[in-house]
Amino acid sequence: MSIAKVIVDVPTSQTNHSFDYLIPEGLEELITPGVRVSVPFGPRKVMGFVIAVTGKSEFKKLRTIDQVMDMTPVLTTELLDLGRWLADQTVSFYIQAYQAMLPQVLKAKYKKEIESLTEGDLPDHLEKLFAGRAVISFDEFMERKGNYRELLSAIHEGTVQINYIVQSKETIKKVLFIEPDKELYLLEEALVDLPKNAQKQRVILEFFLKNPEPVEKSKLVQKCQTTSSTIQALIDKNLLRKSEKKIYRNPYENTTFKKTSPLPLSNQQQKAITPIWEAIDQTRNEVFLLHGVTGSGKTEVYLQSIEKVLAKGKEAIVLVPEIALTPQMVRRFKGRFGGEVAVLHSALSPGEKFDEWTKIHKKEVKVVVGARSAIFAPFENLGIIIIDEEHETSYKQEEQPRYHAREVAKYRGQFHQCPVVLGSATPLLESFARAKKNVYQLLEMPDRMNEQEMPPVEIVDMREELHQGNRSMFSKRLLEAIRERIAKKEQIVLFLNRRGYSTFVMCRDCGDVMKCPACDIALTFHKSSHQLKCHYCDYQIPMVRNCPSCESDQIRYFGTGTQKVEEALLEAVPEARIVRMDVDTTRKKGAHEKLLNKFQEKQADILLGTQMIAKGLDFENVTLVGVLAVDAMLNLPDFRSSEKTFQLLTQVSGRAGRHKLPGQVILQTYAKEHYAVELASQYDYDQFFLQEMKMRKNFHYPPYFFLTLINVSHPNQLKAMEVTRMISKLLYKHLSDAATILGPTPSPIERINNRYRYQCMVKYRDEPNQRSIIRKILQYYYDEIQKNDLTIQVDFEPYQL
Ligand code: ADP
Ligand code: ZN
Ligand code: ZN
Repeated sequence: MSIAKVIVDVPTSQTNHSFDYLIPEGLEELITPGVRVSVPFGPRKVMGFVIAVTGKSEFKKLRTIDQVMDMTPVLTTELLDLGRWLADQTVSFYIQAYQAMLPQVLKAKYKKEIESLTEGDLPDHLEKLFAGRAVISFDEFMERKGNYRELLSAIHEGTVQINYIVQSKETIKKVLFIEPDKELYLLEEALVDLPKNAQKQRVILEFFLKNPEPVEKSKLVQKCQTTSSTIQALIDKNLLRKSEKKIYRNPYENTTFKKTSPLPLSNQQQKAITPIWEAIDQTRNEVFLLHGVTGSGKTEVYLQSIEKVLAKGKEAIVLVPEIALTPQMVRRFKGRFGGEVAVLHSALSPGEKFDEWTKIHKKEVKVVVGARSAIFAPFENLGIIIIDEEHETSYKQEEQPRYHAREVAKYRGQFHQCPVVLGSATPLLESFARAKKNVYQLLEMPDRMNEQEMPPVEIVDMREELHQGNRSMFSKRLLEAIRERIAKKEQIVLFLNRRGYSTFVMCRDCGDVMKCPACDIALTFHKSSHQLKCHYCDYQIPMVRNCPSCESDQIRYFGTGTQKVEEALLEAVPEARIVRMDVDTTRKKGAHEKLLNKFQEKQADILLGTQMIAKGLDFENVTLVGVLAVDAMLNLPDFRSSEKTFQLLTQVSGRAGRHKLPGQVILQTYAKEHYAVELASQYDYDQFFLQEMKMRKNFHYPPYFFLTLINVSHPNQLKAMEVTRMISKLLYKHLSDAATILGPTPSPIERINNRYRYQCMVKYRDEPNQRSIIRKILQYYYDEIQKNDLTIQVDFEPYQL
């Protein structure tokens, strides 16, 4: 008797235990760990993952597995273990972790069909099941007592295939091909015999005499300027035949990638790559932090590391921030490794994603370049994992399981005994600290290729502007520079940080920002209550009219959107042609590319936008980058605000003068002397690191302390508050004395969709029991969570505060 342990996709699985099911006779070979099955659960049938197969069960009266959904496991044993680890780390359900590892198509509800690929050439038993049809549903197959083994061997022989049909959209794309149905000399004869007026048919026959390969019907129509009926006429004469072929959807069908060869490495590249090569050669796990300025040639180091990995017959995962997965980036990998590369990112259709994933699953490619979830690529012989721009927050998933791709990379690196390379011009503070302590091996590339200098950065003090009577959001200096570039037909990028939700309070006279004395976090203005509140602890004060430091009445509540900036800019520089890029203008599919193309083709002078223009873009004609509201970043209610400012300023500055024309950067700020602004303008990461570490130490933030953020929401405000208070109490009671519990406090966005949101936070150094305590708390509230009234989100190592 064989029994499968199955993790089922049901909300009642409040603990992560599996359920035992009998394996139907004859299916023992097929039902192995990592295969998805459909099982009876109560009155329903649900999907589940087989995680183990055993010979006995402690339960009597087991039910039987209903269907097998995969012919080969979709999760390897490594990924099955990883899923359990991930769920434990993030306090989520195993099923959530497994779902997160698979492309959407495999998660969705879908129908299966069995299709015969031959006519009358099937084993008898199958032939009967098809009963003269080409396609039967999987359910029919099972109802008629179809035999899995025979099906399996027929699939191996290529006489049948399984199609997955998701919401009536095929996951496997089939295309109609046309090809000659006769020997070529017979076609030639037919051509001679064609009546004179059959000119259209002649064209097609001549085409096939020159290209006898099967060709997509749509392409044939195009190439021969012909019609379906003409093609059909030739098919009816048995000169041509049609066939359906399964093809991969190719998101880059219309792009050609020019083949590139490895460049001779510069000295600093050589120095950086040598230890990586050694680790690859020795099949040794080690984490490298490649700290290289923008343009230092990090990508070439990645490429030549991968080359080494491929030479050893192994595979590579490259993670790139979602926003940077531009055709430019893809080109560099496809250009070097061609058909060995699969690409995974969110702009692909579900079908395209499925196809790219299938290539990995079937070992038809050896490299994947992708966004966060590509870290779960089902490779089994990894030789390297690379995370570019490792400081990017998009590597953290903001829904359960709230994992960080870096931690998954380290897990897989250890499993495969391969190096993990984290690359950045501005590493996350935690990463650089680990490198300093030799937990990671630090590799430095301080110089740009081509001896290009970083563009000079000019800081404009907005307090001065005010004193000189300029109350607008543009300094005289910036306007002057903008007009000058427009006159020279050069282009400008204007950057405004996403204002987001919070409004901070600043004195325009002295530049003072009102902060929480305990947390060093900018206080946020709450309109409803006219209070200034700290979002970490519960500190709050009434709204002020005069500056507490200098008593000036030039207090301002900040919060400007891109649209306002555009209006003001047009008033100041009426001749400017502006492309505005923010969430509003890029909502439609393809809008992003359209706007960028417009700018690229110089139909606009100024690209004005938020975060989304900060990275990856590379315009030859941009010679001026302006940053309008440095202070808005600096004063986000987030302990990382200085770090994020430094990262953004560095990245934004890298947009100017990347080519022949020299570039310049202008930063407008009320906080000229803030170390993040000053050091970013000098491109001095090392000094920034030292300064910022002091702050982190003083105020007990990472990497000295860890944080856990717990967010509670409920339609009833009192209830949300009460649950948060209860959770804080429980944590206070059960965690050690060394842990600090902050809050409860309203979340930065106090109310979304009529749900009130409160949060509390744990600051700690070492709390080994924390996860099990939190899991118990979640279980305690389980019923209310299920009824959908209450949500409790737990975020370890939060990035969005
Ligand atoms: P990074 O990834 O660090 O920002 P890139 O890899 O984009 O830097 O390199 C910057 C530029 O230098 C690119 O145009 C790249 O083609 C070029 N480059 C990189 N390595 C070499 C090399 N060894 N020889 C010549 N050019 C190089
Ligand atoms: Zn003041
Ligand atoms: Zn506080």
